[in-house]
Amino acid sequence: MATIIDGKAISAKVKAQLAAEVETLKTQGIRPGLAVILVGDNPASRIYVNNKKKACAQVGIASLEYTLPAETGQEELLALIAELNAREDVHGILCQLPLPKHIAEQAVLEAILPQKDVDAFHPVNVGHILLGDCRLLPCTPAGIMRLLEEEQVSPAGKHCVVIGRSNIVGKPMAMLLLHANATVTICHSRTARLPEITRQADILVSAVGRAGFVTAEMVKEGAVVIDVGMNRDENGRLCGDVDFEAVAPKAGKITPVPGGVGPMTIAMLLQNTVTAAMPNK
Ligand code: NAP
Repeated sequence: MATIIDGKAISAKVKAQLAAEVETLKTQGIRPGLAVILVGDNPASRIYVNNKKKACAQVGIASLEYTLPAETGQEELLALIAELNAREDVHGILCQLPLPKHIAEQAVLEAILPQKDVDAFHPVNVGHILLGDCRLLPCTPAGIMRLLEEEQVSPAGKHCVVIGRSNIVGKPMAMLLLHANATVTICHSRTARLPEITRQADILVSAVGRAGFVTAEMVKEGAVVIDVGMNRDENGRLCGDVDFEAVAPKAGKITPVPGGVGPMTIAMLLQNTVTAAMPNK
């Protein structure tokens, strides 16, 4: 039976470290501040924003929330971002995605100053992720790297298989694993013979967004299985991509959903905000 990787406990440890760093910054007259922009009333986005605000409060980061109506125009949103870019007490800015269809998401992401882009979605930061010298980390992949580190799983020399190639998870995940000296295979919806590939994985990361997608037949005995998926099962309960009951007896280590990757994503967002607030950038 696999060891269950406790993302909640590890994120609590990260947050405790960050709270101490925030205290140190306070002695220098700096209080890290995160501005969160929510456009529209998507219920899932509302929950994410509330969770982020709660997490900020836990470590002493000031959070500023800007809730705008769904019909807000792009120019108005860009004007708010320009104002936040200029504010000295705002060190991090994030715009909760998805945005309403009439707003060009990429234009908004590119309007955030790269040094305040705590989601690391700006092309400048994406470039740094590719180069391997990023200051602001891609939150979900960085959270996974921290989980592996805390579990003393080194990716070096391992075959890591990432299912999913999104800009938010799959691609940056592959880059961080590559920088950690793994041999990386990226799979997607057009990948042929997927189970053959996933069965070779020492570390398997699934970021697909489909409940029950990763079955026991797709997993090598003793593999480390990281489940990024956040889906609802037929009873409306939160679940990942991995058929946990079937895969856990075969895996070496496995993340649960909830309580695995999710809490680490928020912890890394806080870490980025603290980093962005640090002097000598
Ligand atoms: P996304 O943009 O929809 O990407 C999904 C990826 O899965 C795509 O690359 C897609 O391939 C691939 N895929 C779809 N069907 C497949 C199949 N049959 N075989 C192989 N690959 C397939 O999603 P995302 O933003 O990366 O998020 C993925 C999941 O992670 C979602 O459930 C999301 O809610 C969750 N998530 C969780 C966290 C967290 O903190 N825990 C953070 C972010 C996202 P193509 O590119 O070919 O379409």
